[in-house]
Amino acid sequence: MILIDGKEAAAELRAELKEEVVELKSKHNKVPGLTVILIGDLTPSQIYVRNKEKSANEVGIKSEVIKYPDSVEEKTVLKKIKELNSDETVSGILVQLPLPKHIDKQKVIEAIDPSKDVDGFHPMNVGNLSSGYESSIPCTPLGCYLLIKKIEPNLSGKKAVIVGRSNLNGKPMTQLLLKENCTVTITHSKTKDLKAECLEADIIVAAVGIPELVRGDWVKKDAIVIDVGINKTDNGIVGDVHFDEVSKNVRALTPVPGGVGPMTIACLLKNTIDCFKRSQI
Ligand code: NAD
Repeated sequence: MILIDGKEAAAELRAELKEEVVELKSKHNKVPGLTVILIGDLTPSQIYVRNKEKSANEVGIKSEVIKYPDSVEEKTVLKKIKELNSDETVSGILVQLPLPKHIDKQKVIEAIDPSKDVDGFHPMNVGNLSSGYESSIPCTPLGCYLLIKKIEPNLSGKKAVIVGRSNLNGKPMTQLLLKENCTVTITHSKTKDLKAECLEADIIVAAVGIPELVRGDWVKKDAIVIDVGINKTDNGIVGDVHFDEVSKNVRALTPVPGGVGPMTIACLLKNTIDCFKRSQI
């Protein structure tokens, strides 16, 4: 069984991106810029944003974090996004989620210029991805896709089962694998027989948020299994896949932690650089 090492894959991707930033700097005499808006003092959000800033600086992206208190008014945030949209030094804008209840998440997402939407959540990018056009792609599914391609470069005709239909993970994952000519089944909480669906799959991507949902007898012997889940349990952090059982039965599997997680931030950096490159044409 191949243990898919997301830490190593993310380090390789960051090294490639670092070289690309050097080349872009010598060609354009400027570097990509990422601005993150952080609202409130939720500890996980603060940690995510700190990691994003650190990783961006490591690859040579100019990063900035704009912090607001929980009580900030929606119009203040929207005004700031408008300013950033027209700031040429800013290639990518990310508003860290979740937002306080009084701020309309969709309004905020739609305020970001789609060409600077490094999370790929703007309806324009969602539509472009589903139409097969160039777009920013949400970072976690993009990371999953790159890990799958490392194991199996030719995905044409493979049967993929996506567990979970969130806008963040399941739906964009479906589009990415469809583009690779996979036959994709998207499953969710109302799916009648999830085990039977999974047993058909050459590729399983589990993004559910239920600890160890996918069991050892749900998988085919040569399947590639990607575990997006991050679930806090009494036994520590576990994924949506039962690692001990499934690892005995499949071709390749991502661990949790150390699988998909590290690729998510590396893909944010990739998206920032891609937004910069598109803005220079
Ligand atoms: P979500 O809650 O938005 O969506 C969960 C999906 O699972 C829904 O579509 C729901 O229909 C489906 N579902 C629920 N119960 C089910 C069942 N019994 N059978 C089949 N499907 C079922 O979740 P999300 O935001 O996509 O996150 C999923 C998991 O991924 C969470 O554990 C989250 O922490 C993790 N996550 C990890 C990363 C990362 O970087 N590794 C990033 C984002 C989210």
